[in-house]
Amino acid sequence: MSSLHIVTATPALLADDRSRAAYSEGAGIYRILPRAVAVPGSVAELTALVRWAADTRTPLVPRGAGSGMAGGNVGRGVIVDLSQGFHALTVDPARRLARAGASVTWTEINAAARGLGLRLPPDPSSGAFATSGGMVSTNAAGPRSLRYGSVRQWIESLETVDASGEPRTVHRGGGAGPWHPAPDTRHLVDGHFPRTRKNSSGYALDAFAESGDELDLLIGSEGTLAFITQIEWRLEPILPDVAGVALGFGELEALSDAVPYLLALNPSAVELLDRTILSFVEEALPAGLACLLLVEFERETAMAARGVVGDAVRGLKHLTAHVETAVDRPGLERLWKVRTLASPALARLSETRRSLQVIEDGCVPIERLGEYVAGVRGAADRCGVQVVLFGHAGDGHVHVNTLPDVTRPGWEDGVSALFDAVTALQVRLGGTPSGEHGDGRLRAGLLERVFGAQVMALFRQVKRAYDPGEVLNPGVILPAADWAPLVDLKVGAAATPIADDIAARLRQLERTASWATPKTSLADSPGT
Ligand SMILES: Cc1cc2nc3c(=O)[nH]c(=O)nc-3n(C[C@H](O)[C@H](O)[C@H](O)COP(=O)(O)OP(=O)(O)OC[C@H]3O[C@@H](n4cnc5c(N)ncnc54)[C@H](O)[C@@H]3O)c2cc1C
Repeated sequence: MSSLHIVTATPALLADDRSRAAYSEGAGIYRILPRAVAVPGSVAELTALVRWAADTRTPLVPRGAGSGMAGGNVGRGVIVDLSQGFHALTVDPARRLARAGASVTWTEINAAARGLGLRLPPDPSSGAFATSGGMVSTNAAGPRSLRYGSVRQWIESLETVDASGEPRTVHRGGGAGPWHPAPDTRHLVDGHFPRTRKNSSGYALDAFAESGDELDLLIGSEGTLAFITQIEWRLEPILPDVAGVALGFGELEALSDAVPYLLALNPSAVELLDRTILSFVEEALPAGLACLLLVEFERETAMAARGVVGDAVRGLKHLTAHVETAVDRPGLERLWKVRTLASPALARLSETRRSLQVIEDGCVPIERLGEYVAGVRGAADRCGVQVVLFGHAGDGHVHVNTLPDVTRPGWEDGVSALFDAVTALQVRLGGTPSGEHGDGRLRAGLLERVFGAQVMALFRQVKRAYDPGEVLNPGVILPAADWAPLVDLKVGAAATPIADDIAARLRQLERTASWATPKTSLADSPGT
């Protein structure tokens, strides 16, 4: 490629200190200064940029809103921000499809579809800012994934730019693509993949073995196989009636009976708040609860929705210490408020005690959930690290935030020991370290423990088939040779220095979950 072509067609590379600092952090634990930042405004600009990167062997870090927690959205290469230039959105009600550019958020898709009686059912809590490109790349999910699965099931086609800079469209049913596995691969995958209801760890060889579609390799590939520029989302009609119940339990062990009982009633969501997080919202609930389940039922009629809530309450009467029901959407929203109260409480923690996502996304077979929660609590006590637990009980999927005092000498050792202990627990229970956030840089080095050496070799084959020059997000999913999950942290004395005002803005953005903020604006000088 001629250098003239690069100058005219690529977006400018922002290599000044302030732009690099503005993109040094995402929602997870890291602060890593990139080499530069690019904000392409079109597929043509992106293809030119990728061709230049392929020619010069410059690593690229694809990025959406930066709300991903596993560190796939930060790195030392050139950050490519796709959250600003790909906003096209159309909805085709007859075919029940939405065509969305990579920058379009879940909330924007649903706002456009709602008037037509349609929705994108998987509902990440980060829907207000998570981009379509980011959701596809992490195989995002939400509370309603219990009934509707992760976003994987709702993707009809992807427009991509591959590692050599070629635009390509990949359809459901379109075939296997550039990776051609050996015939015995299916057997290997069957024997080594976690038997969990959700998984966003590794490349999805299980889904690929099932469908034979490369679409399944690209979904959840965290920017390591291709850029995603446009998505065709499948939509479905909104079910008219909803009802729900909050069930409080005095003993954690009750989950082993309560969750399977609720699953048999076909709920759309079963969310867990453990006592570690309830302690932040105590005033809203009776004292002494070990955990709370928030349950939603969607049905064709109000009578059916209310009827099934009655079944849940009666069936679990012998186990519950607290019951509160809701018979319509506003009532349900009031009931679920307790879930949103915890986040601001966590955000108000003193600056010395930080909420860090290190073991935040484990998912285990549903029958091992009680064991997992108890095991995480026990490991946290042993390692001397305070934790809060909440999440998607119906999927056996639990978010765990660590809350270390980052001014205490040696706090990193406790977190590191907990990371190791919880990984061992996940492996022992047949689980995965990521149900929906992906591996990023954080978990890349765990994959061999989870999937074994043979599957790891398959993951490497996939990467080589798509990105032989290792331009796309190196160190994500496949670990860098010097993988060290707890270095380059955004907290603690060793954090890389950046301009104070940008550090403060990034912290504010994290506290208020304002990930939709264009990150280029953070680089503006204060007062401009
Ligand atoms: C408060 C909060 C709540 C959250 N709740 C949920 C939840 O309920 N469910 C859930 O699944 N996640 C949740 N997340 C995590 C996060 O929102 C999701 O992972 C989301 O899908 C990331 O989207 P993003 O646009 O921010 O992507 P980023 O964080 O920018 O990127 C995430 C990964 O995708 C890659 N990527 C991004 N865009 C592209 C693209 N166009 N092409 C190729 N690769 C790309 C990046 O390289 C990176 O590896 C939450 C996060 C926060 C902060």
